[in-house]
Amino acid sequence: MTGRQLVTSAQNTWCPGCGNFTIQHTLKTVLAGMEQEGTRLDDVVLVSGIGCHAKIADYLNINSFYAIHGRAIPVASGIKLANRELKVICCVGDGDVYAEGLDHLIFAAKRNIDITVIVHDNRVYGLTTGQYTPTSPLGFKGKSTPMGTMEYPLNPLELMLASGATYIARGYTKKMDLLKTLIRGAIDHRGFSFIDVLQICATFLNLTDHYNTHTRDLPAYDRSDALLACEKIREWDYNSGAPIALGLFYQRKAPTFDEQLQHKSLPKTERLLRTREFLATRQ
Ligand code: SF4
Repeated sequence: MTGRQLVTSAQNTWCPGCGNFTIQHTLKTVLAGMEQEGTRLDDVVLVSGIGCHAKIADYLNINSFYAIHGRAIPVASGIKLANRELKVICCVGDGDVYAEGLDHLIFAAKRNIDITVIVHDNRVYGLTTGQYTPTSPLGFKGKSTPMGTMEYPLNPLELMLASGATYIARGYTKKMDLLKTLIRGAIDHRGFSFIDVLQICATFLNLTDHYNTHTRDLPAYDRSDALLACEKIREWDYNSGAPIALGLFYQRKAPTFDEQLQHKSLPKTERLLRTREFLATRQ
């Protein structure tokens, strides 16, 4: 099926001004472009978690799986390992993946599982009406923290770098062209790709003015240099008033989990040959 209608007829219940619209539209545009270039959209699977973001599985007309809270990544990993030919995209929320599902995120990065994780990071639990998440700003006053949070937010990009992710980026829902480039790059990347998207929650934590005045593009540097990437990632710690860099922070090539799994199932002589070939690429 080509030229497919990518938006379903499901009633959209996101609030007006929600950044999820941008992510949905951008993903749709990327998928349409891939289809035009010859990708069969039946070979793409979208997995979502639980939260406002997760409704994207209802709104995009591709194969999809609505996982339970925090468990989108193990489902996506299983799909990928069952069929290596599939492109697996995992849309998750910040509460969903940095709280309930954090261990899965870390281990998927560590194993370099060839999936794309797009975090709709609105820095609040929107669906349950405004509780704080691991990336909420210090002092955020929500339903569960009327006096303000006392916890410093997590820097997910730094965590992903330490965990072994091979593609690490940050986007913003008001910068759609950049977001499109990052999503396409992540899908094309062979290995675990991760994009933290600063997503506007128009209802419970609207940071539009702050992001509009503080975001900037990353400068040029060697994207395969982990130390430089770490330096750039640490410039903004999710709480300070420092400039917020957007773009691709880090990318490297590494064997994926499915490649290694296939390697292990080969006869011993073939395995030795492949190991030699692999080692030769590292010299
Ligand atoms: Fe979007 Fe926030 Fe409304 Fe949820 S609560 S749909 S994240 S604006």
